[in-house]
Amino acid sequence: MQNSRGNLFTVSAPSGAGKTSLVAALIEAMDGIRVSVSHTTRAMRPGEQDGVNYHFVSRDTFTEMLNNTAFLEHAQVFSNFYGTSKAWVEQQLASGMDVILEIDWQGAEQVRRLIPDTIGLFILPPSREALHQRLTGRGQDSQDIIDARMKEAINEMTHYVEADYLIINDQFDVALADFKALVMSQRLTQQRQAQRHQPLLAELLS
Ligand code: 5GP
Repeated sequence: MQNSRGNLFTVSAPSGAGKTSLVAALIEAMDGIRVSVSHTTRAMRPGEQDGVNYHFVSRDTFTEMLNNTAFLEHAQVFSNFYGTSKAWVEQQLASGMDVILEIDWQGAEQVRRLIPDTIGLFILPPSREALHQRLTGRGQDSQDIIDARMKEAINEMTHYVEADYLIINDQFDVALADFKALVMSQRLTQQRQAQRHQPLLAELLS
């Protein structure tokens, strides 16, 4: 079996749609797929770990990385900057790993332009009420911040049309099964399978 290039997925969602939990569960459940750890200038939230949730960096470091073209894509979300390491993603894909980028619509657009065969997934909450509850439920932010996030979430959701696939995160297990099915289906495309099984095809067709 040949070591073919991995598939690149972008996963976007409004804050509060459960994207991070779904991605974490998928990575846990499947082999051959990894999630990119972004760089950000935002402050660490309680329970987050540097190098696990994000690489937390200063503005100066972020700007320096940007100037050194270290990012595949980057975006400003609220007043913070976020970026994806180009070298890490390239290494993983070249080694045959599938890679997930958990990024906002601006980042997904940049990645799609650079790497046209990127698979874009958008995750939606089951209702506006559920979204509001999930944003409030974290209990870490003030009402003003929740209101701002709700507005931002609605803005983010308008970009669902740019994605190739949509998953509604109503029941977590169902959404996870959908996500796994998507990753599997992309591994089974004719193009990927033909790359992976070149010797077999050569033998079968000789
Ligand atoms: P949070 O600060 O709540 O973790 O993330 C805020 C938003 O930034 C989310 O929509 C998240 O997907 C997005 N984000 C996280 N990392 C990146 C990144 O590297 N690039 C881009 N474009 N967006 C990111």
